[in-house]
Order: sequence, then C-alpha cells, then structure tokens
Amino acid sequence: MSFAIAVPCLLCILFASAMGESSSRSSGLPTKRIVIAASTLLDGKGHVLHDTRVVVEGSKIIAVDPMAAPIDYDLRGLTVLPGWIDSHVHIAWSFGKDGKSGSPGGTPAEIAYSIAANAWVTLMAGFTTVQSVGSPADVPLRDAIAKGEIPGPRVLTSAEPLMGQGEKSGTPEQIREFVRKQKAAGADLIKIFANYSVRKPDLMLSQEQLGAACDEAKKLGLRTLVHAYGEAVHDVTVAGCTEIEHGVLATDADLKRMAEKGIWLDPQAGLVWENYLQNREKFVGTPGYPATLDGFASMETLIPIYRDFMKRAYKIPNLKIVFGSDAVAGAHGRNAEEFVDRVRDAGLDPMTAMVSANSLAAEAMGLGDQIGSIAPGTQADIIALDGDPMTDITAVRRVVFVMKGGVVYKIAGIPGSPDMKALSNTQTSQHTSR
Ligand SMILES: [Zn+2]
Repeated sequence: MSFAIAVPCLLCILFASAMGESSSRSSGLPTKRIVIAASTLLDGKGHVLHDTRVVVEGSKIIAVDPMAAPIDYDLRGLTVLPGWIDSHVHIAWSFGKDGKSGSPGGTPAEIAYSIAANAWVTLMAGFTTVQSVGSPADVPLRDAIAKGEIPGPRVLTSAEPLMGQGEKSGTPEQIREFVRKQKAAGADLIKIFANYSVRKPDLMLSQEQLGAACDEAKKLGLRTLVHAYGEAVHDVTVAGCTEIEHGVLATDADLKRMAEKGIWLDPQAGLVWENYLQNREKFVGTPGYPATLDGFASMETLIPIYRDFMKRAYKIPNLKIVFGSDAVAGAHGRNAEEFVDRVRDAGLDPMTAMVSANSLAAEAMGLGDQIGSIAPGTQADIIALDGDPMTDITAVRRVVFVMKGGVVYKIAGIPGSPDMKALSNTQTSQHTSR
C-alpha cells in the first residue's frame, strides 16, 4: 500500500486536535477547515463514491465536494468510510492481575488504566462509537472520553443490567424502580437478561416482568437491549423491547414478528467464541465458564450454530440487523474480526456488513442523523483502511487512519513519512496530556 499525506500546516493540525470533542466555538477561536481526499469512499449507507473530498470543520463534516481544496489528508489509494459502531461490547471487562477473567484487576488506578486501554485499542481499531452493555464502570469512562480527557470511542452504556432471576427479579413495580435507578445513574439504555445461555435457555423473566422493564424504559425515553435465546425472543417481541442480543434458537416466525414490529436484532458470527477458545486458560474455572479446558471443546460446536442463525436471520425480509461483536476481555481492539467472520464464514455480502456497523447501527441507537454516515452535518468520524473490504474483507484489520469528531487519532503505515508519524504522535500526546 502506498499513499501520501499532503503535509498540512503543523499548527492547523495541532489546533484541530486541541478542539477535541468540544467545538472551538466555546473557545472563541476560528474553526480550522480540513479537506480529506479519497479515491474510494463508502458513505455508510451502502453507496460507494469515487474521487471525492470530505470537508470537516470543527467536529463535523460540512461538505462532500470533489473540488474542495487544499487537501490536508490525502487518503487516495485507501478505502475511506465512517468510523464503525459496535452495538455490543463490554468495554470495562479486562483480565485481572493474575491474568484470569473476573479476578480483581489490582488497585483502583490499575483497573482504571486497563479500562482506558480497552477504550484506546478499540478506537485504534476504527471503532468511533461503542455501546457497552453491562457495567456501571462504563459511566465514568464515557464521561471522561466525552470531555476529551482521555482518548476512546464515544460510549453509550446501560450501567447495571437487569439480570433475570425468576421471582427473585422482583415484582413489576420493583423492576420499574430498577430501571429508573439506572436512568438516574446515567444509563443511555437498559440491558436486560431474559435468559442466559444457548445451551440452557430457561426463561428467567416472566412476560409481565419483561413488559414492566421495557415499558418503564420507554416512558423514560431509553431503549432496551435484551439478551435472549429461543423462546425468550418471542416474549421480548411481545413486550415491545427495542433490540434483541444474540437471538439464537429463535424461530422464523419469531424473526418475522420482530421485523413487523421493527425490533432490531444483534447476532454474532464468531469473534465472541473464538476469543473464549483463544483465551481458554484465562476463562477456565471462572464464573460462568467451563471448569476444565476440555469443557471448552463444546464451544467450537456453537460457532456454526451462531453462523447458521445469522444466515437464516438475513433471509427474513425487513429484519433490521446491526453489528455487535460482544467484545469481552481479550477481544477489545479485535472487534473487526467479527466482520471477517460474518463475510467469510456466514456468507454476508461485505457492503451489508459495513452498513450494519455504520448507518444501521446509528439508526438503532437513535443517532442516525449524527453518526454512521459521511454526509454534511454528521460528526466527522472517519476511518481509512489499507485495502478494499468489498473485495478483501481482511482489509478491516488494516485501519491506518482514525478521525473522531474532527480529531485525528491515528495515521499509521505511511512509508517514508517520519514527519507525519511524529505529527501523529504529537497529536496523540497533546490530546492525552490534557
Ligand atoms: Zn454481551
């Protein structure tokens, strides 16, 4: 791969970098205009544009104009697209100090650094927005990133999830109270476990309990993401929740009903299981995982079941399917492997895979007019891949440029361009040192 960056004025870039998430308007300084040239640009909605330029001002894209000049970043020869959105991660989940999942991560400072590291590698992998489903620790992370204090993807979080536990989950009124408590704690959405495992999909919430959770969230203006397998998919659909996570073992009738009611589906094609298998020593014997290494063998048989489910789901007309990797400890920064699984192993066409992590994921979050596409008025979340994912899906592993909200966080793999490398380091340290 070879591409050249037109060396822009150093001060201009540092200035753009210093603006961070907040607009320069508040500082009263003039806004720097940045022009990015692309030979191949995916707009996030399924279209490919050739030989065009994206104009960024402050944190937003203000124009897509082939005549815009002068060029600040020349990304011709790469594939330029909106930053990806991962609808399902567990960004606070790291291996503990002893290397095991679920064990203590050390001092509060060490834990905070490991969470910040997860955010950093996720952003470097091209994910400019993630939806983290399941930890109150996401809340301060989200806020620190939003304030520009540390680098990372934009984070939406559920804070603490509602774990279905049968009767012990509480009365419908207690469940409503729990939902209100999450909203007060800063949740952007509510995560609910209707059942736990594809192997043992016993219902853990009654229809009444599920209905109370999703109804209360709706009243508060929050979306509901429900972890559900098999029969639970039917109940979640009846309850009118927003999105179903995993969904495996759902019948075609369930999936059709979801499509009719506009309920989103977030299935997985492999990364989550591959990650458990690759890191089995770190998960073995920890809560919720096999007690012996041999116990992991059965996970291998689950991968084709998940893939077949995804293939079946994509055959249901009008069913809206988003990209969610379910990244846990060990998978942060490798979220894009899920694209490879979807295209290579589940037979998805590459454009559908890209759009599921761009405009569709944004729409599912109610942020369709703000992120997930390259169009005037949207956030300047722009990445570039060395290669063309339409012909080689493994190009998703080669993210060489990352801009989020108008700030460049990554310029990598630029042959013979030490100046730009130094520049990119400067921007990073400028940002992180604040
Ligand atoms: Zn999950």
